Amino acid sequence: MEEDSILENMKKTAFHEAGHVFLHELCEIPYKSVQIFSEQEGRVFGNEEPPIDPLIYACICFSGAVAQDKYADPSCSPKYYGISLQEGVGVNGSDFDQYKKLKLPENHFLPLLDTTRKAVIDIDHWELISKIANAPMEKKKLQSEEVKQILEGSNLNRDIVEWVLAR
Ligand SMILES: [Zn+2]
Repeated sequence: MEEDSILENMKKTAFHEAGHVFLHELCEIPYKSVQIFSEQEGRVFGNEEPPIDPLIYACICFSGAVAQDKYADPSCSPKYYGISLQEGVGVNGSDFDQYKKLKLPENHFLPLLDTTRKAVIDIDHWELISKIANAPMEKKKLQSEEVKQILEGSNLNRDIVEWVLAR
């Protein structure tokens, strides 16, 4: 029983990190690898403070919580997606710190969260995020090249990038 819940938590973390990785791919922001360390902890390894558009960066931050929420409760009302991030609970902590660093006012935060949610729950995108999360991770680690192989030939809808950059 306990083992089941450990596996389930690992899966939530895998979906969380897959959400981040997918947004990296969608927004073409380079990273090296993604790793799951424990039930509560995973990380995308890339440039520590990437010199990228801060709003794109915010979407990448949000995407982990959004994917985790959708995995944990697929029927969850859209307005709750990412609420764990907003409240700083239910995620591994790093996102909330990053969000606080961004100091986005609520009128920026909510539309960005909503846009991120749309990109993550898009039916084709969610299928790809699930593939990334379910990818065999013997070492609990995927290199960015391996993620790219998973996504190869898929149609990615990059509206989110245009939407963010137009702001
Ligand atoms: Zn995260």
